[in-house]
Amino acid sequence: MIEKTRGIKDIRNLTKSLPTIRYVDPDYVYLAVTNARCGTSEIYCKPGDYVKIGTIIGMRHGGYFDQPIHSTVSGTIVGTVKKFHRAGKMVDFIKIQNDKLNTFDESVRERTDEEIAKLTKDEMAEIIKQCAVVGMGGSSFPTYIKFQTKDPIKYILLNGVECEPYLSSDHRLMMEMPDRIMIGIKYILQAFKAEKAIICIKKKYDDIFEVLDAVRQRYPDLPIEIARIGNFYPQGWEIAMIKSALGIDIPSGVLPSKYGIMNFNVATAVGIYKAIKYNLPVVKRYFTLTGDGIKFPQNFRVRVGTSVQELIELCGGYVDEDKDKVFILGGPMMGVSHVRDDVIVTRTVTSVIILNHHDNVEEPCVRCASCVYSCPVGLQPVSIMNAYKANDKDAIIKLGAKKCIECGLCSYSCTSKIPVTEYMRKAKKLIK
Ligand code: SF4
Ligand code: SF4
Repeated sequence: MIEKTRGIKDIRNLTKSLPTIRYVDPDYVYLAVTNARCGTSEIYCKPGDYVKIGTIIGMRHGGYFDQPIHSTVSGTIVGTVKKFHRAGKMVDFIKIQNDKLNTFDESVRERTDEEIAKLTKDEMAEIIKQCAVVGMGGSSFPTYIKFQTKDPIKYILLNGVECEPYLSSDHRLMMEMPDRIMIGIKYILQAFKAEKAIICIKKKYDDIFEVLDAVRQRYPDLPIEIARIGNFYPQGWEIAMIKSALGIDIPSGVLPSKYGIMNFNVATAVGIYKAIKYNLPVVKRYFTLTGDGIKFPQNFRVRVGTSVQELIELCGGYVDEDKDKVFILGGPMMGVSHVRDDVIVTRTVTSVIILNHHDNVEEPCVRCASCVYSCPVGLQPVSIMNAYKANDKDAIIKLGAKKCIECGLCSYSCTSKIPVTEYMRKAKKLIK
């Protein structure tokens, strides 16, 4: 079924070959006090306080974990302002004026290789927790929880597939910072005592393969392989990636760790490297601003907390100021749509796609089964949609809606332009 999604055009060509622009010293940064996983928080700073890079300025509270909020610049706390978070909600952000002196907090310090060689998995988990490293491919799942698994891990998979159209931030990261990825992998291999690590990339990207393969030779002691897997969406979905790289089928609802497999995004591996080597939280990231709505799509290396409006200006502004636009945070298949550009680059925002709005007139379902044919999980989206409309919770459960990974393919393939994935989200919410 996955094979049938080959038709999705990869529009990464807009930016994949462009060198990255460094924009790491904005006048202000904005740091969200809550996010999709942490609904409440405490703030430890007040206007006028001086903070450094890595200073903890607050604590987010999630259902089962806390997450420190670190300043990503040195400078002065201005106050709290409202901005849009990646999750689509307007939330409070702490605004910090950047003094551009790049002064680090005392907690940021370099560990020697000897110190690192003695670290256990639990000790690394604690460092990563304090540095608030999360899944940087967009999942935002706390990385330390993966390090706390009790399952024996044989294979580490690094996700460099970046399978959604338009996205190229991981592509540029792999091209420009392969050493950091390799050292991150070295620490992960050490922690899990794993047999080998496999970096998964799309088969068609010779440029990434050549760079990673050359850099891999610099670490002859590390068991790192590169798997060139399918070019189609959703190869980056961990279950599909594992199947392609290792030939192992992970049943629905079972964690890959039960099969001795642990996955990390390539950008997360860099986050792990920075945390372990320098005790430094994620303060910068690769980011793509693209789409037909802006003049010059571009890749950036930005400070976490940068306003997307500033980056739009750096891209030459909008193609047509007067046209209505859609702002998608993340990829076009799984990202979240906004109607305003007042959004901020957080640790987990890989990209913003700005599209000129095109009217999509929804038509009645013609029962063509395109959505069924496309679903990588083997669901019947049209039946789940109808069960949702009928408020039939039993049917939604029976049809297995909770297995939906919200990949967006049912909407993409729908002949009648019905936002089927939206119905999947609503159906899952109804039975939660
Ligand atoms: S969004 Fe859910 S139901 Fe739709 S194709 Fe993807 S997994 Fe299947
Ligand atoms: S693809 Fe759209 S039109 Fe076809 S069966 Fe699914 S919901 Fe109906």
